[in-house]
Amino acid sequence: MSKLLTAIRCRIGWHKRLHVIQTFGSAQHIGCPDCGRQYGIHHGLRTVIRWDADLADLYRSMGHDVDGPLREWRRTVLARSEPPSHRGSRALPPDAR
Ligand SMILES: [Zn+2]
Repeated sequence: MSKLLTAIRCRIGWHKRLHVIQTFGSAQHIGCPDCGRQYGIHHGLRTVIRWDADLADLYRSMGHDVDGPLREWRRTVLARSEPPSHRGSRALPPDAR
Protein backbone atom coordinates (compact mmCIF):
# COMPACT_ATOMS: atom_id res chain seq x y z
CA MET A 1 0.00 0.00 0.00
CA SER A 2 1.36 3.39 -0.90
CA LYS A 3 2.28 5.83 1.81
CA LEU A 4 -0.29 8.26 0.45
CA LEU A 5 -3.10 5.72 0.67
CA THR A 6 -2.00 4.74 4.17
CA ALA A 7 -1.97 8.42 5.17
CA ILE A 8 -5.47 8.92 3.75
CA ARG A 9 -6.76 5.81 5.51
CA CYS A 10 -5.28 6.93 8.82
CA ARG A 11 -6.66 10.45 8.36
CA ILE A 12 -10.21 9.13 8.16
CA GLY A 13 -9.66 6.70 11.04
CA TRP A 14 -9.47 3.56 8.93
CA HIS A 15 -6.12 2.35 10.25
CA LYS A 16 -4.75 -0.63 8.44
CA ARG A 17 -3.12 -2.03 11.58
CA LEU A 18 -3.60 -1.48 15.26
CA HIS A 19 -1.22 -2.70 17.92
CA VAL A 20 -2.21 -3.50 21.46
CA ILE A 21 0.09 -1.38 23.59
CA GLN A 22 -1.33 -2.48 26.92
CA THR A 23 -4.30 -4.42 28.27
CA PHE A 24 -6.30 -3.47 31.37
CA GLY A 25 -8.84 -6.22 31.95
CA SER A 26 -11.49 -5.68 29.27
CA ALA A 27 -9.92 -2.42 28.10
CA GLN A 28 -6.87 -1.83 25.95
CA HIS A 29 -4.56 0.97 24.92
CA ILE A 30 -4.07 0.55 21.18
CA GLY A 31 -2.02 2.41 18.61
CA CYS A 32 -1.53 2.65 14.87
CA PRO A 33 2.11 2.03 13.88
CA ASP A 34 1.66 4.04 10.68
CA CYS A 35 0.43 7.35 12.08
CA GLY A 36 1.07 6.96 15.80
CA ARG A 37 -2.49 7.78 16.84
CA GLN A 38 -3.59 6.02 19.98
CA TYR A 39 -6.94 5.02 21.36
CA GLY A 40 -8.47 3.51 24.43
CA ILE A 41 -10.90 0.70 23.69
CA HIS A 42 -13.30 -0.90 26.13
CA HIS A 43 -14.67 -4.18 24.86
CA GLY A 44 -17.45 -4.48 27.45
CA LEU A 45 -18.82 -1.02 26.67
CA ARG A 46 -17.91 -1.34 22.97
CA THR A 47 -16.39 2.13 22.94
CA VAL A 48 -13.26 3.60 21.38
CA ILE A 49 -11.95 7.01 22.37
CA ARG A 50 -8.77 8.91 21.60
CA TRP A 51 -5.97 8.16 24.06
CA ASP A 52 -5.02 11.45 25.71
CA ALA A 53 -3.42 12.73 28.90
CA ASP A 54 -6.70 12.47 30.82
CA LEU A 55 -7.19 8.83 29.87
CA ALA A 56 -3.57 8.05 30.76
CA ASP A 57 -4.08 9.76 34.14
CA LEU A 58 -7.22 7.69 34.73
CA TYR A 59 -5.29 4.45 34.29
CA ARG A 60 -2.38 5.78 36.35
CA SER A 61 -4.83 6.55 39.16
CA MET A 62 -5.88 2.89 39.04
CA GLY A 63 -2.26 1.87 39.60
CA HIS A 64 -1.21 1.02 36.04
CA ASP A 65 2.18 1.90 34.58
CA VAL A 66 1.00 3.39 31.30
CA ASP A 67 4.28 5.10 30.47
CA GLY A 68 6.53 2.03 30.31
CA PRO A 69 4.49 0.07 27.75
CA LEU A 70 3.96 3.23 25.65
CA ARG A 71 7.68 4.00 25.69
CA GLU A 72 8.44 0.41 24.66
CA TRP A 73 5.86 0.52 21.84
CA ARG A 74 7.25 3.79 20.51
CA ARG A 75 10.81 2.47 20.75
CA THR A 76 10.02 -0.73 18.84
CA VAL A 77 7.80 0.97 16.23
CA LEU A 78 10.30 3.72 15.54
CA ALA A 79 13.20 1.25 15.40
CA ARG A 80 11.57 -0.74 12.63
CA SER A 81 12.25 0.01 9.01
CA GLU A 82 9.69 -2.44 7.62
CA PRO A 83 5.98 -2.29 8.43
CA PRO A 84 5.20 -4.85 11.15
CA SER A 85 2.30 -6.52 9.40
CA HIS A 86 2.53 -9.59 11.61
CA ARG A 87 2.73 -7.85 14.98
CA GLY A 88 -0.30 -7.30 17.11
CA SER A 89 -2.71 -6.51 14.32
CA ARG A 90 -4.74 -9.58 15.07
CA ALA A 91 -4.78 -9.07 18.83
CA LEU A 92 -8.16 -7.37 18.75
CA PRO A 93 -11.42 -9.20 18.26
CA PRO A 94 -12.92 -8.57 14.79
CA ASP A 95 -15.71 -6.43 16.20
CA ALA A 96 -13.25 -4.07 17.88
CA ARG A 97 -12.18 -2.33 14.67
ZN1 LIG B 1 -3.02 5.16 11.49
